[in-house]
Amino acid sequence: RKGNVIITGASSGLGLATAKALAETGEWHVIMACRNFLKAEKAAKSVGITKENYSVMHLDLASLESVRQFANTFRRSGRPLDALVCNAAVYLPTAKEPTYTAEGFELSVGTNHLGHFLLARLLLDDLKQSDYPYKRLIIVGSITGNTNTLAGNVPPKANLGDLRGLAGGLNGIQSSAMIDGGDFDGAKAYKDSKVCNMLTMQEFHRRYHEETGITFASLYPGCIATTGLFREHIPLFRLLFPPFQKYITKGYVSEEEAGGRLAQVVSDPSLIKSGVYWSWNKNSESFENQLSKEASDAEKARKLWEVSEKLVGLA
Ligand code: NDP
Repeated sequence: RKGNVIITGASSGLGLATAKALAETGEWHVIMACRNFLKAEKAAKSVGITKENYSVMHLDLASLESVRQFANTFRRSGRPLDALVCNAAVYLPTAKEPTYTAEGFELSVGTNHLGHFLLARLLLDDLKQSDYPYKRLIIVGSITGNTNTLAGNVPPKANLGDLRGLAGGLNGIQSSAMIDGGDFDGAKAYKDSKVCNMLTMQEFHRRYHEETGITFASLYPGCIATTGLFREHIPLFRLLFPPFQKYITKGYVSEEEAGGRLAQVVSDPSLIKSGVYWSWNKNSESFENQLSKEASDAEKARKLWEVSEKLVGLA
C-alpha cells in the first residue's frame, strides 16, 4: 500500500515542495494539514499534485482546540499514519508587540512549538499502530536556532534561559511573552521556537524510539530565501535576501531542492537513524550535523517537555 504522510503547512514553501516531491513518487498519499483550505487546494493544483495523491485537512496550529479536532478528524478518516512532518511556522521579525494564539501563548512559540508538540503527542499512538516498514516523525529545525553556526550568531540569538516565561504561560500578562522571561523580540521568538523544535525531536527520541521503533529526526533544509516565511519582513530585506544568500553566503537552496531534501528524510530507507539533525553539504549530500550546546541540552529538553505538557493540557 501507499504510505500516508501528514505535512503541516503544506500550502506554501517547503511544505508544498515536499508534498509535491512525495506525491510524485506515487508511493505516498499526502495529507496537507493547513489553516486555509482553499489556499491549500489551489497550491496543490498549482504544482500539479494529482487528486488521488493528496487530501486537505483543516489544522490551525495557533489553536489547541483545532489541533485536537484535527487529530480526531484524521483518525475518523480511517487512514493509517506512517509519517508526520511538523513543518508549518510563523516568523514575525518586525513585530513590535507580541500577538497571541487562541489560548493566549505568544504566536511564534505557540504555533511553531506548542501546536506541534500537542499534535505530535496526540498522533504518536497512530504512528505506533502503523504496520509500515518505516515510521517517522520529522520536526523541521533551523540553523538560526543553532548558536554554533555563523547564521545562529546573528543577534538576537536564541536563548531559552531557565524557561521562566514559558513556565509562566508565555502570555504577556502573568509572565513574559518570551520563553526566557525577557522583553518581546519577534526574531528571537522564532529562533527560540526552532530550538524547542530540535529539543522536542531529541526528547521524543529518548522517550520513544526504542519502544516504538519510530524514527525521530530534524533537519536544516538550507536557506530557502524565497518562501513566504519572510513575508512579514521589510521590503528591502525581501528584495536583497535571496541574492545575498545565493551569491554571498552560498547557503541558498531552491524550494524544489529543499522539498527534495525533506522528502528524502521522510522516505529514504538510508535515512532511518533516529535522534539525528540532518543537513546537506555543497554537493547536496546529507550528513548528521551537530547541534549547538543549548539545542542538544538533554536536561533542558526534559524540562521543556514537562512545561509544554502542562501548557497544552497533557499533564
Ligand atoms: P512558508 O511561510 O512558506 O510556509 C509556512 C507554512 O506554515 C505555510 O503553509 C503557512 O500557512 C503555515 N502556517 C503558519 N501558521 C500556521 C498555523 N497557525 N496553522 C497551520 N499552518 C500554519 O515558510 P517556509 O516554507 O520557509 O517554512 C517551512 C519550515 O521551514 C518552517 O518550519 C521554517 O522554520 C523552516 N525553515 C525555513 C527556512 C527558510 O529559509 N525559508 C530555513 C530553515 C528552516 P499559510 O499558507 O496559510 O500561510
